[in-house]
Amino acid sequence: MDCANNFFSLVHGHVFPPVIDAVRDAMTKGTAFGMPTESEILLAEALAARNPRMEQTRFCNSGTEAVLAAVKAARGITARERIAKFEGCYHGAYDWIEVSLDPTPAAWSDKSGNPASVRNSAGTPESVLRETVVLPYDDPQRCADILQREGPSLAAVVLDPHAARAGMVPVSKETAAVVQDACRRDGILLICDEVISFRLSYEGASPLFDLEPDLVTTAKIIGGGLPIGAVSGPSDRMSVFNHANGKPKVSMGGTFSANPLSMAAGLESLSHYSRPAIERLNGFGCKLRNRVREGFSAAGIEASLTGMGSLFRLHLGSTNITGYRTAYAAPEKAELIRRIHLAILDEGILLTPNCSGALSTPMTEAEVSLLADKLIAVVAKELADTSALPG
Ligand code: PMP
Repeated sequence: MDCANNFFSLVHGHVFPPVIDAVRDAMTKGTAFGMPTESEILLAEALAARNPRMEQTRFCNSGTEAVLAAVKAARGITARERIAKFEGCYHGAYDWIEVSLDPTPAAWSDKSGNPASVRNSAGTPESVLRETVVLPYDDPQRCADILQREGPSLAAVVLDPHAARAGMVPVSKETAAVVQDACRRDGILLICDEVISFRLSYEGASPLFDLEPDLVTTAKIIGGGLPIGAVSGPSDRMSVFNHANGKPKVSMGGTFSANPLSMAAGLESLSHYSRPAIERLNGFGCKLRNRVREGFSAAGIEASLTGMGSLFRLHLGSTNITGYRTAYAAPEKAELIRRIHLAILDEGILLTPNCSGALSTPMTEAEVSLLADKLIAVVAKELADTSALPG
């Protein structure tokens, strides 16, 4: 039973017949054209119909490209260069956005206790650290203070309101409000990265947090299992890409962008991700989390399952998970998570390597119960095999 679903992109599971048919049909008409096709208009309209703030959309082939294009758009619109992002949050493999993706405790704070800008890898240029402000996901006052100071120099704040890597936990309403207010006050563009979290509701994630993003980035489920990325926003924001009157302020294009196969798969997939389908799946997610919570507590297991809607992630220990630092697993705990990932795989269930996962629409009560039972049993066994829970 695949609960990783190609890193949350297959919301209808593998080989979903309507998507297969749609792709087969699209393939007979041509796989790629150096021009727009009707299929991209249909998918853009489907997104706009779900969330009016996604009035216009431009497509690309991955979430990374979408975030990259949104950040460039923000720079083009504001004539500023720096951006802010939240500590421990993943938004793709783009230099600025990778800053402080996975800092270790020894490096994560600067002298004043604020999140430091930490390079992600040897491939991160030093210069991007000065151009990337890092915000705490679960400390609204500190977040407000940093934005008060840095706001006027920022082109964008990038926020995933339900960040997977930072714990698979929702951002608090307080932090969301701090970000929204700072963006309005200082003319910063708010980019909501909903590459994973778009699935949380019919309209996506940002409306659940009273956020009104200038740009929304999506990918994964909007492609029905084929490569995709998208930048959406109100027409006055999206006009930064408009090349109808010559060179746009910011250009966004690519050889396979908006290819008809991804468009057809995405459109078909979204049409089956209806309000009732989402309600059913999110209900299963609640059941899963409740059952696992009760099971852990009945067995005296110190672990938790975070997440909203159909998304979930396992954490070991008794800490209340609120963001990157509380979700951080020191090496011994990370090793235990790795063992649990492999042990539950031996039981026939695939999770992502950090033991997060997603439910998909073909699942029924039976699969949800099976998943809950296996999670409880495997965690109990692996913890019993470990003399003491580290950290
Ligand atoms: N943003 C978020 C929130 C993501 O989770 C991911 C991928 N997991 C990306 C961006 C990058 O998407 P892709 O892998 O399609 O480049």
